[in-house]
Amino acid sequence: MGEDETQTLVQLAWDALPRSRRRLLEQVGASRWEIVERPLGDVVFDLLRSSGRRAPDSERIRSENEALGIWVPELRLVLINEGHREIREADRSTREALLTWLAWHEWGHALSVTAFSDHDPSEGARLVELAPAGIRERIRSGGYRRNEYIHELIAETYALLMRERVQGRPGRPRWLPNEIYQLMARIGA
Ligand SMILES: [Zn+2]
Repeated sequence: MGEDETQTLVQLAWDALPRSRRRLLEQVGASRWEIVERPLGDVVFDLLRSSGRRAPDSERIRSENEALGIWVPELRLVLINEGHREIREADRSTREALLTWLAWHEWGHALSVTAFSDHDPSEGARLVELAPAGIRERIRSGGYRRNEYIHELIAETYALLMRERVQGRPGRPRWLPNEIYQLMARIGA
């Protein structure tokens, strides 16, 4: 898959967002993205260094090198590594779904990091327990720190609601607890 195709998919994911959410993302500076073909920790290291900022520590580099996508708050930039094995090895339709999900997930992060910069980590852990099984298991097995739980939950829920929406099911799915749905209101989405 070429970069153009990935670009197009991310653009389509962006265009599918309601206008008000696009505006919100523009306000927090999250309307820019770059598709790369390198481990993201290394990309962030280079970008932060070349913009005169403090280089990330080795733990952050290592964990971001594993990521398919990330939101980089310091740079107001979403990065996607289309060279990641999980993307490269997926068949076409899986890859399309994955990239679209990834873009929505990272935009969810951008809003979450802005709205929940200061929160009680035990609240995140409690809410993850209430989440639909798929989301709960992904977060639990993802090796996240407890203070990242709320952000992962919001990012996953954001992507999930967008997927429901483009498939013609807007609003709160019956199986999504209202308390989690309400998090979206708290990030302004
Ligand atoms: Zn995430």
